[in-house]
Amino acid sequence: MTKTTTVDCYNCHSGETEPFLRENGFWLVRCKGCGLLYIRERPDEETIEIATAIGQHHGEQDLDANVHYNPGVKAEYRRFLPEIFPDGFAGIGSWLDIGCGYGEFIETLTERSHGSIDVVGSEPNVTKQASAKKRNLNVDYFDLATHPRQYDVVSLLNVYSHLPNPYEFISGLKRVIKPGGEFLIQTGNAADFSAEDILKPLGLPDHLSFTSESILTDMLERIGFKVVSVHKFPDLPIEPKKIAKEIAKFILPKYNSYLKYYVNYRKYSESKMFIRARLPAES
Ligand SMILES: [Zn+2]
Repeated sequence: MTKTTTVDCYNCHSGETEPFLRENGFWLVRCKGCGLLYIRERPDEETIEIATAIGQHHGEQDLDANVHYNPGVKAEYRRFLPEIFPDGFAGIGSWLDIGCGYGEFIETLTERSHGSIDVVGSEPNVTKQASAKKRNLNVDYFDLATHPRQYDVVSLLNVYSHLPNPYEFISGLKRVIKPGGEFLIQTGNAADFSAEDILKPLGLPDHLSFTSESILTDMLERIGFKVVSVHKFPDLPIEPKKIAKEIAKFILPKYNSYLKYYVNYRKYSESKMFIRARLPAES
């Protein structure tokens, strides 16, 4: 039995909501104040912390968030990085990737920068951390409130939706970014979708909230960052080797296939979002 707790919107502090959709025994609601999608009645903090460490989340069906090391995502990062960093990585000597998972991004960044960046990863999931270490990546789990180092860039990729309170978490990250340094965040540009159109399953309650470009850029500015750039890419997650399986799921009505979303491909052409934001330099 999962212990639950009720929370207000972490972005605008409103408690006024309307139901959005129900999945895996949890309601995702839309904040009437700012439009954020979040689970208002959610697993309590202790349950979330344990779940994040071991990669198991409990709902009506237990979700296994461990997945596997996926070199396939590196192809995506190789395509995205030159667009997000058109001027290359000059001036970037150190980089911390928070929630680095198996380290696919660290590997791509190291390759793209020809090893010129000292890339460090932090990962709470013990299975993922061990896998990254085995591939000789500099990965550990840091307490960011006491971590003694500052970096030229700190990235947070595909972590946002898992965080109980992203506003608080990102505010806390400022202390590990050098003055004038950068923050790179990737998350779904999802909160503007209707319940019908949003990509499902949403992975509740592993995912606790969904934001949008306008909500997130506004939030970053309030936290004290200056938004440098926003890049958006299509997010239709079918890996080539899974196409046959997706076609089978598409034909059999009891399964939910991502293939149905490809019919409306253009709707999802901007749903994967990367935002670069900078801290002010010390005066
Ligand atoms: Zn709100």
